[in-house]
Amino acid sequence: MPENHRLIEVQTIEPTRHGSLIEDELGAAGIHLVRVGAEGFDAPKTALSSKLGIGPDSSARNIFRQLGTKNRKHLLSAMIVARKTASATCKLEMSDDTVKKPGDIQWLRVHVRFDQSDAHARWTFVAVDISGEQLALENLKAEEEHLRHIVEYNPQLPWIADANGQIIDFTDRWLNSTGMSRNEAVGEGWLKKTHPDDIERVGGTISRCHKSGEPFDETIRLEVNGTYRWMRARGYPRRDENGNVVCWYGYTEDVHEKVLIDQQILWDAEHDSLTGLHNRAYFSTKLEKAIKAAPANLKKVALLLVDLDNFKQVNDLMGHVAGDDLIRKFAEALRAAAPADAAVARLGGDEFAILLNGLNEVSEAVEVAEAILRLQGNFDFGGRSVTYHASVGIGMFPEHGIDANQLLRHTDLALYKAKSNGRAQIQVFAKEMLDDMQERVAMVNRARTAAREGRILAYYQPKVCLRTRKLAGFEALLRWQDNLGKIHAPASIYAAFDEKTVAELLGKTMISHIFDDISSWKSQGLEFHQVAINASPVEMRQSDFVTRLTDEMKACDIAISEIEIEITEGVFIGTNADTSRKSIDQLHKAGIPLALDDFGTGYASLSHLRNLPVSTLKIDRSFVQDLADNTSDFAIVSAIIAMGKASGMKVVAEGIENKTQEDLLTDLGCDIGQGFLLGKPIPAHDVAWLIEHWEEYLERNVQPPKWAIDVPMRRANDAN
Ligand code: GH3
Ligand code: MG
Repeated sequence: MPENHRLIEVQTIEPTRHGSLIEDELGAAGIHLVRVGAEGFDAPKTALSSKLGIGPDSSARNIFRQLGTKNRKHLLSAMIVARKTASATCKLEMSDDTVKKPGDIQWLRVHVRFDQSDAHARWTFVAVDISGEQLALENLKAEEEHLRHIVEYNPQLPWIADANGQIIDFTDRWLNSTGMSRNEAVGEGWLKKTHPDDIERVGGTISRCHKSGEPFDETIRLEVNGTYRWMRARGYPRRDENGNVVCWYGYTEDVHEKVLIDQQILWDAEHDSLTGLHNRAYFSTKLEKAIKAAPANLKKVALLLVDLDNFKQVNDLMGHVAGDDLIRKFAEALRAAAPADAAVARLGGDEFAILLNGLNEVSEAVEVAEAILRLQGNFDFGGRSVTYHASVGIGMFPEHGIDANQLLRHTDLALYKAKSNGRAQIQVFAKEMLDDMQERVAMVNRARTAAREGRILAYYQPKVCLRTRKLAGFEALLRWQDNLGKIHAPASIYAAFDEKTVAELLGKTMISHIFDDISSWKSQGLEFHQVAINASPVEMRQSDFVTRLTDEMKACDIAISEIEIEITEGVFIGTNADTSRKSIDQLHKAGIPLALDDFGTGYASLSHLRNLPVSTLKIDRSFVQDLADNTSDFAIVSAIIAMGKASGMKVVAEGIENKTQEDLLTDLGCDIGQGFLLGKPIPAHDVAWLIEHWEEYLERNVQPPKWAIDVPMRRANDAN
């Protein structure tokens, strides 16, 4: 007969008094005992038994039935095991209709014992109510699941380390991403995946923090999926009740993109993107630091400012892409020419700076500057070639500036001096440069004030036909009057012509005066022929210069034949030379005659002549001065006149001061003369007298009644 049948058939045993007591207590503890043996079936009544619906009348069969199919299977399996091994355990879950309210038994753990010490088989079933325990277990499991998901879906990769900082566990994701096995990674194995450059730093931080028990936070590169990525590694200690660290919890977090962006932002903040050199902001900080540290080590600091000469021409002739290329190449060469420990920066445009630390003598800075001068050469781009060179200003701390700001300003003056002295040279700052600068500032202020207060005047110098000695016209020349009424030539304000706003103001004022004067002479019926007007490079670079000029001519009823615009070669040099060229073409289109002033002194006069719509050439006074004695000047002047005539141009000689010069120029075929011999510049109100008394004035040197004496201060191209 199968065991289970025997079990069901046994009879209930009378409970003993002693046994009943124990069972009551067991029952109170949620434990129920059922014994089945030769003596019968013993299922005492306990709190648990009534919950389970087991009474003294219950038979084993009834109880067994009550369990339901699934539980019966579990119990039978346990009994089969117990038959073989003496004991077994199974877990039974009550069916839904038995569990109706909280407190009902939901889970039972049943320990089955089988004993066959004599001829009879005995079964003991100890049923324990594990509903509470099971609930706690389920809650724990659910919590564990939550945590596992939180960890799994969190971008951070957690780890645990022992009190000494030896890692004892990583998450699977950590291991998968690094490709390390748990065994390899634990302890300090993970360092094998750390970038060699970061090991010392992170190792130092971690061991320091383990000693102090402080949390740590480091950013390191970790090899992940075959490439190094920036990771943030943070660790926090857990302490026992005595405050001793028992273990460390931490995580590594992929911050690669953020670190790269931060690095880029930092790089951008400190570097110039075109050349890769440091920028002005970084250089200024470096300079300040070097100046602060210099007194302590009794050394000097040198500042070199380097600026490419006539760089705008490269932009103008070859375009900005070529300009950028030259800046890049020059930056590279400059870096290579400077000592390895020097700070080299691009301050902006074509200006660079070098900081030399720990010097004893200025000569050491000059040596570096000389190496920079030697960088000059040819720059080839797009099939064209230009020569390039640079100028260098040097300032030394402490002698040339008490702080970074002053040193920069003074070194800039030295650079300015190198430029104004002819470029491609070195200038070390000297105190006199400050006086020069102050004088330049004073000039600009003087000119601005004079223009605002209506003290800019137009003077007129006669131009004479050398063949007939008849009046051929005038050149309008700028004069200004000081507060005491004294008249000055432009030499005392020449720096103002480089200042865009003031130069434009002066130009506008002059044109307005000249047109008023011409209108007045015309209304008086005076034969003034033509007035030459000087247009400064700044004016010619204004895109609306010609439109404004022609508009004003219309408004004042000035004919194109009544004026001539004089330009110098300066208009072709510098920023917006293209605009100058456009102005020239517009003037030509409007039919306004164009004269090239100071001819012979510039660099590319002949090439300009070939390309420009110039109708008049003005021979510079420097050639006329020694015409009689200097054979090469004579040769140059003869050639210019011959060339001008061959090209159908009118030739004007400036600066004629004696009869010999006049005669020589007349013999060479020069058309027109200008100079003190033929007439000094006079104010507008004397022009009428001059025109009316021209012959007397020229032949017998009769002066106007109130002759406004011109001051001797002159500028080569302004006052003949
Ligand atoms: P100087 O001999 O007096 O130095 O005259 P320069 O023609 O070299 O002109 P300057 O140094 O006064 O001005 C530099 C010019 O460089 C001004 C601007 O037209 C040009 N520039 C500024 N930044 C850049 C740049 O990033 N790329 C290019 N191609 N040109 C630039
Ligand atoms: Mg320059």
